[in-house]
Amino acid sequence: MTIQPASSARNPFAHLTAKRAFTDSANPETPPRGARVRATSLITVAASVGLVVVLIVSIGVALFASTATSAAEDRADEARTLGVLYADARFLVVLEQSLEDKYRLEPGPDVARAHEAAAHELAVVLRTIVRLAPPANAAEALRLLELHKHYRVTAHAMFAAIAAKDLARAQAIDHGSLDPVYASIQDAVYQRATQQGRLAGAAFESLNVVQRSAVRVEFALSVLGLACVLGLLFVIYAYRSRLVASHEAEVRRLEEAMFVDSLTTVGNHRAFKDDLNREISLAARFGLPLTLAMLDIDEFKLVNDQNGHVYGDRVLVELARVLRAGRVEDRAYRVGGDEFAIILPHTSADGARAVLERIRLAASTTLHGSTVSIGFSTADAFDITAEALQHQADAALYHTKRGGRNGVSQFDAANKGTWLLSTERVQSLRALLASGTLPIAFQPIWDLERAEILAFEALLRPAASFGFAGPQDAFDVAERLGCAHELDRASGLSALRRAGDLPAHALLFLNVSPQTLDRDFDVAEFAAAVATAGLRPERVVIEITERSIAHIDNVIAVARALKAAGFGIALDDTGSGHAGLEIMSRLQFDYVKIDRAIIVKAMGDRSASGVVAAIVAFAKVTGAYVIAEGIEDIPMLDFIDRSKCARAPVGRGIRGAQGYLLNRPSETLPAPGDVLDVSALLREHLSPDASRPRWLVRSSLPVRSRSTFVKE
Ligand code: GH3
Ligand code: MG
Repeated sequence: MTIQPASSARNPFAHLTAKRAFTDSANPETPPRGARVRATSLITVAASVGLVVVLIVSIGVALFASTATSAAEDRADEARTLGVLYADARFLVVLEQSLEDKYRLEPGPDVARAHEAAAHELAVVLRTIVRLAPPANAAEALRLLELHKHYRVTAHAMFAAIAAKDLARAQAIDHGSLDPVYASIQDAVYQRATQQGRLAGAAFESLNVVQRSAVRVEFALSVLGLACVLGLLFVIYAYRSRLVASHEAEVRRLEEAMFVDSLTTVGNHRAFKDDLNREISLAARFGLPLTLAMLDIDEFKLVNDQNGHVYGDRVLVELARVLRAGRVEDRAYRVGGDEFAIILPHTSADGARAVLERIRLAASTTLHGSTVSIGFSTADAFDITAEALQHQADAALYHTKRGGRNGVSQFDAANKGTWLLSTERVQSLRALLASGTLPIAFQPIWDLERAEILAFEALLRPAASFGFAGPQDAFDVAERLGCAHELDRASGLSALRRAGDLPAHALLFLNVSPQTLDRDFDVAEFAAAVATAGLRPERVVIEITERSIAHIDNVIAVARALKAAGFGIALDDTGSGHAGLEIMSRLQFDYVKIDRAIIVKAMGDRSASGVVAAIVAFAKVTGAYVIAEGIEDIPMLDFIDRSKCARAPVGRGIRGAQGYLLNRPSETLPAPGDVLDVSALLREHLSPDASRPRWLVRSSLPVRSRSTFVKE
């Protein structure tokens, strides 16, 4: 049997949990998140560095390419120009030669002029070469220019010899000077023209190579740049995907947190509300019973106080584990500090009680000494709302707490009225607290030996208009609402405001509820209020009921502080609860007030009278003054009277009494000097040596049933 936390597959946020598990780790094909992040970072760095490198290299390559290309172009231009010039020179040399030959055959001024023009042209070409060619080339051109000058002079001399028909001289000049010079010019020009043609071709080829290389490198760089850009785009995409994924995860986490208690990982109050409403409508639709249980750790505040919050947290987590280990169909929620709710679908009251008893037992064995109280209510009639069902389970839980904790109670539908705290009662309490000074009744406590009034007990007497059945009823409501301390404070202050009316020797007994003493009592503030009322602390006795003491340690600590401040301490309702002897053994009470019920029982029951005897004996040892509460008739007075009880175990121990027989509580304090029939009564029923009452209250002595307005 397992009770599922609200995160089971049936709850509204289970799919969220499942989804998260899938995305986070359950998918084996998804690389771990850390590895993905590392890979993306690597790509980012590589792409960014690559892009920067590509950019720098591109600029360098562009600069280099443009320089190299322009140098190659220059070289190609120069080679081409020189090539053209040498080609022109070769042509002019050939032209000069043919005009020279022609002049020899047909001498005339036209041919001589044409020859001169060609020679001039060649000289111009050679000078241009000298100007444009690189130094080595230019030097050669200069040499050719000199040779050509010499040729032209020699040619003129030969032409003059021909014109003078001196053929022998012409022949001599031609063979002697002209031919060698001409041959030398011709060879050089021919050779250089051929060479220059080749150089021009090579220069153009190299220009081509440079241009092609530049294009290739640019292409490679473009590809590299594109790869980097693609890498960066991928990174941006990856970042975006990761951002979207983490955003979705965050949304899922928040959605989940909305329904899960972070400490125990069971559902929280929101999940509880949703699920309870859904289960109620499902149960109504299919006509199946539905049980809701409320569970609260007992004395958890004490667990925290003694062991620290971290330990307390561990107890909460452990309890959640116990709840998860229940039945599959049941679901647990943490709805408050130490309060859990369990929804038990289609479970009848009997079935629920068995399940919840098992949980209670499991908790008591696994929580290292802590126990839990459980209250539940089963919805069989389906006109019930979620609020009403929870209200009933809460009331049952409260019943368990009041019954001594560590138990399981079922809501008692037959006694709805007394179990449930209606809105009207809550409002009544608020109205009572807001009403300012509260009405207080004072009931005398008699010293039986001296037949004197020992003290007055102040009792809250809320006006009937508030609708409470009595002060205890008002305190019950206040306790259930967690504001008993407010009611205590208001009634204590109201009683102290009347302190001036008290007879000078009489003590004032004030009740303080256990809830207040447990956590909200401020001794210094109380002492200041008593001083303001004009009372010494010795005249004030605080009554602590043993009926529902939760945290004995806390109560004892406050009681010690009160004693240290000079106040008297009384144990109220002794014999009614379970804590009486323990608390008496740990704290020296000044007064012990025996509960009326135990006295009534003791009058006809030997074992009950043994309890009374034990209380009295204990009180005697500790020096406490014993008071019997609720003395309503003569037999009761006789029972506690020392002469009548001489042989009884109670014997002589009970020194004081209060009850209707000895005065009802009254809002009007009696004036000193009023004489009462109580004196006669006490004289008649107390031992003969009792001293005569000094101060008695004039009042009737009706033997009446207990008024519901009196707390006794
Ligand atoms: P009772 O038996 O009447 O329930 O007594 P109690 O001390 O358990 O009283 P109550 O249930 O009113 O007190 C709940 C305490 O739970 C109060 C607070 O100190 C403690 N508490 C609330 N939330 C947490 C928490 O998250 N961690 C821990 N360690 N303690 C918490
Ligand atoms: Mg608790």
